[in-house]
Amino acid sequence: MGSESVKVVVRCRPLNDREKALQSKMVLSMDLERCQCFIEKPGAVDEPPKQFTFDGTYFTDHTTEQMYNEIAYPLVEGVTEGYNGTIFAYGQTGSGKSFTMQGTAVPASQRGVIPRSFEHIFETIQCTENTKFLVRASYLEIYNEEIRDLLGSETKNKLELKEHPERGVYVRDLSMHTVHSVRECEGILEHGWRNRAVGYTLMNKDSSRSHSIFTIHLEICSTDDNGHDHLRAGKLNLVDLAGSERQSKTGATGERLREATKINLSLSALGNVISALVDGRSKYIPYRDSKLTRLLQDSLGGNTRTLMIACLSPADYNYEETLSTLRYANRAKCIQNKPRINEDPKDALLRQYQEEIKKLKAIVSGQLGTTKLSTMLTAQSGATPVSSRPLSREIEAEKEKIKEDYEARLAKLQAEYNAEQESKAKLQEDIVVLRLSYESKLSDLEKAQATRGSSEPNNVSFSKHIFVEEDLHKAELSSNNTNFTKSQCTVVDQSVGDGTVSDAEKLTESSRVSTKSPDQKDIIERLQQLEQAVVGGEQVRNQELRRRHQQRKKFADQRQVQLVQALSENSEQSENVLFNVYNSIQEEVHAKSQMLVKVQGKLRAAKLEIRDLQGEFEVERDDYLATIRRLERDGQLMQSLLERMVQLVRRDCNYSNLDRLKKEAIWDEESATWRLPDVMVQKTTLPSAVPQKLPTARGSSADLEEEEEDRFKEMLNRSDSENIANSYFKSKRTTQLLGGEPSKGHVIHSSALYNGTSHLSLSSSPVNVSISPDSVMPRPFRLESLDVSLSNGKIRRKKGKSHI
Ligand code: ADP
Ligand code: MG
Repeated sequence: MGSESVKVVVRCRPLNDREKALQSKMVLSMDLERCQCFIEKPGAVDEPPKQFTFDGTYFTDHTTEQMYNEIAYPLVEGVTEGYNGTIFAYGQTGSGKSFTMQGTAVPASQRGVIPRSFEHIFETIQCTENTKFLVRASYLEIYNEEIRDLLGSETKNKLELKEHPERGVYVRDLSMHTVHSVRECEGILEHGWRNRAVGYTLMNKDSSRSHSIFTIHLEICSTDDNGHDHLRAGKLNLVDLAGSERQSKTGATGERLREATKINLSLSALGNVISALVDGRSKYIPYRDSKLTRLLQDSLGGNTRTLMIACLSPADYNYEETLSTLRYANRAKCIQNKPRINEDPKDALLRQYQEEIKKLKAIVSGQLGTTKLSTMLTAQSGATPVSSRPLSREIEAEKEKIKEDYEARLAKLQAEYNAEQESKAKLQEDIVVLRLSYESKLSDLEKAQATRGSSEPNNVSFSKHIFVEEDLHKAELSSNNTNFTKSQCTVVDQSVGDGTVSDAEKLTESSRVSTKSPDQKDIIERLQQLEQAVVGGEQVRNQELRRRHQQRKKFADQRQVQLVQALSENSEQSENVLFNVYNSIQEEVHAKSQMLVKVQGKLRAAKLEIRDLQGEFEVERDDYLATIRRLERDGQLMQSLLERMVQLVRRDCNYSNLDRLKKEAIWDEESATWRLPDVMVQKTTLPSAVPQKLPTARGSSADLEEEEEDRFKEMLNRSDSENIANSYFKSKRTTQLLGGEPSKGHVIHSSALYNGTSHLSLSSSPVNVSISPDSVMPRPFRLESLDVSLSNGKIRRKKGKSHI
């Protein structure tokens, strides 16, 4: 399996108005041919600029279009072939990450990488022959180390990360949305972006504080010349990271500081992962240190082609951040990935769709015959679903056909009219009937077009898409054949429970159900929906589009070759000087002294780099120390509070012993929380101080013993079923006191407090355990020695009442 390095390009934004007004200087410059980037330290004129080489350099006047065509195109094209791909933007806030990923609608050349990849993927899908694609999208954000679904019904819910032996790391309950066109993807992106923005305006925050990942999941089924199907799956992650500035510079305090610490935590975890991967010596890669690195695990050192776009601000006052971004990017270049085509994915939905289609077709063709089935499918959907994508064209064609038909018949009728001129009135009637039929056919067609709006590319909005799903849910509720309709919902748009796995389960279930004998109409509808879920090959005959597609591919390939040449020239230059054959000694001296000057310059630059790096480590260390000191202070406060509060906890509760609790608490790696022990109250058993009662005349000693036993049993039962919450504050009645139970050691659990989610439940939990003192304190047994003749039944009744 071949490996390839992570591709890294840098992009420099122009000075903004504020920087221009402040007359900020540009510290960045680039050699576009050699893909080199230089940064000058402000105020250090005698120091040579620092130099970095990347897989592409884009300066202030470059467009996203150029960048996409040169470097992102091959990566996205690979996804349509079954590779995984990740593109992420990195840089400080305001350096142009969102501008690069989302972009602006005007000018068109600055449309972002995300919308461009939508167009690209659908262009490829439409131009590919004998191949069907199932395209689904998901959109999440990581904010304060919590994952949220930007497309789900509850965007505030925190989602969990899970690991699957084959699928790798995935987000449980993340919603997936089947898409058929660029417009649908754009709708979804906009919808998610709005959710992100709403969350932040409510919390008075800006989006630069969260990381967002938009993922396009492709399942590809190509049919070879022998009619065999081959399945592949590709995934494209489009990542917009939070700003990478250092917290000491932003001067954040309080909540902001805590937030910044978490942002920096995941970004420095990303940095650590990169360092560990590049280092080569370290066996352990700390992916688990943050949610971001776990999600990007496959993109860094795994089965994915990765492109990092480092966004830079050229202004002098951002020198430190820009340099830090350049260093980060420079390290990332050395990460080696092992991308391969994902063949025969086990949990492919597409395979299950196909199997279900086959089964359904077998059922219907058994009932109707194959020809009739295909006619019905065509008639119900207006055309076969897959070729129905360019619906407007087909409708136009059909309109034309009807019109031609109408005109031909009209002409024939008129000829007849002319020839015979006898049944004039009747002929006119025929003409009217014909016109009516023409109009009704047209309106039927238009209706069919309207109902099929959701599947037509370039003519659908996200809200419409959701509407379809809601309709289906309604249908699900009202339908008698519930299971059957449920399966329809999963195809049109999945709100996936457990990722694709649960989709698969639902589908298997649905296909089982569908074989029972659902009615024919349902089967045909289901068939259409299944077939409409997939796209591919709609524009195979569009020569213009195919030509453009080929051209873009060729251009990207050529660019790759140029790049490899430019990079190898950079490294070869120095070797040439040594091995060149010179005509004269002067020439050799000249060449070599030039080389010497260059090397001396490099040496100086390297020394300066060492000094700068040491300085930076100092600053970074100060940052970490400040964070540690703050955390220590917070910890101390919590400890002091706990020590005070623990004194208020009853002695017989296990939460009164902090040291024991600490020992018993378990750190859960998966959910990154502490699992705390249950709250327990231990009742102590005291030896009975009750003297033996004298036998009465009413019964024998055996009877008495039995009675005594019954009484104890009853007391035990009562103490078990005591309603603690209701009786805690009740005044003690003599009867209750006298009917005291022998204390028996037992444990009361407060399962409500078992959560394992919040560390702070420590402080609140013991207080909540309201247990009647009756049940805990030893009863005044001596009172029992008083000869109070209360029957057990009476006590029971009274107890019973007091607990109602
Ligand atoms: P980030 O997402 O990194 O915080 P933004 O993408 O929001 O930064 O960019 C900050 C500002 O800079 C925006 O107003 C954006 O329009 C502008 N900008 C960024 N990059 C460019 C560029 N290459 N050309 C023109 N304007 C840019
Ligand atoms: Mg941004």
